[in-house]
Amino acid sequence: MNTYDDDNIFAKILRNELPNDTVYESEYVLAFKDINPQAPVHILVIPKGRYISIDDFGSNATAEEIKGFYEAVSKIVEQENIKQDGYRTITNTGINGGQEVPHFHLHILGGTKIGVMVSKAV
Ligand code: AMP
Repeated sequence: MNTYDDDNIFAKILRNELPNDTVYESEYVLAFKDINPQAPVHILVIPKGRYISIDDFGSNATAEEIKGFYEAVSKIVEQENIKQDGYRTITNTGINGGQEVPHFHLHILGGTKIGVMVSKAV
């Protein structure tokens, strides 16, 4: 998948064509609750730019976009009160990574001990 799909769910959310439960927004990112939460806190952080994956973002985003993205993560974990006890961040990429939505997103999971890092692949 090399071309950004403007019809993906998160692109529609960014265009306000679909609702979302926003927890944080800045010039560079939108963060909202995952519709199918896997932990008491499960937030998705997405850049507002058209990036497919973490490697696309790292290669093609501007320094301001990258800084804005990580600053948002720091603010969100404070805001959600999960900084002290810890949390897990996950970015799934492509077929082997199990990425369902082809717009780069970071899962932030917290509010309880998150289980094993990965289920056995083979
Ligand atoms: P991934 O498998 O990493 O691509 O994760 C996609 C995530 O997006 C899943 O955890 C879904 O539950 C979540 N998701 C899909 N549609 C929506 C939506 N409309 N609002 C919030 N989260 C969504």
